[in-house]
Amino acid sequence: MSQEWNIRSRGHVCSICQKPLVDRAPVVSALRENAGGYERFDCHPECWKTAGRDWEPFSQWDGVYFAPVKEEKKEALKKEDAGELLRKLMTLDDPAMKNVVYVLAVMLERSKILVERDSKEQPDGSIRRVYEDRRQGDTFVILDPRLRLENIGEVQQQVVALLSGTKTLGEVAGEGDAPPDAEGDEAADAETA
Ligand SMILES: [Zn+2]
Repeated sequence: MSQEWNIRSRGHVCSICQKPLVDRAPVVSALRENAGGYERFDCHPECWKTAGRDWEPFSQWDGVYFAPVKEEKKEALKKEDAGELLRKLMTLDDPAMKNVVYVLAVMLERSKILVERDSKEQPDGSIRRVYEDRRQGDTFVILDPRLRLENIGEVQQQVVALLSGTKTLGEVAGEGDAPPDAEGDEAADAETA
């Protein structure tokens, strides 16, 4: 499994003392890298400060814990669609979509849905950015493909096409690699992928 794609949900109890986190109170979150990907910690700031640790976090940040809300406001529908698309893409784990995933995350950050918590340059020169959903608290570890400025517009159009439903995930994934005359094969490719 590729480690570039990782979603970790925020916990609702402290990872250290196991007592509930308090709505709208500060929380310390951390990611620990392990063989399978990342392990996430959400802790009372006091617990994080006082508990002993023999490991270094991959990433660590201060946030605010929001208890889950059952009823969502209707006006948030459009933005949630974008968030749902990101979750779907992360779960699909398709390397052909890495540019779309990254640009979508940046767009969500600009709309204040996500906040960038950290960025880590990897030994191979790539960058992994840690984004957190401000409300739900889910963490997304996303590969920054270091897009050239002139390519960003094209990817943004793909994101908009996905959000508006004018293109399917399979169609967009096919655009990245397929030769120009292979349009007829895209649907088949998407099904076997
Ligand atoms: Zn605690």
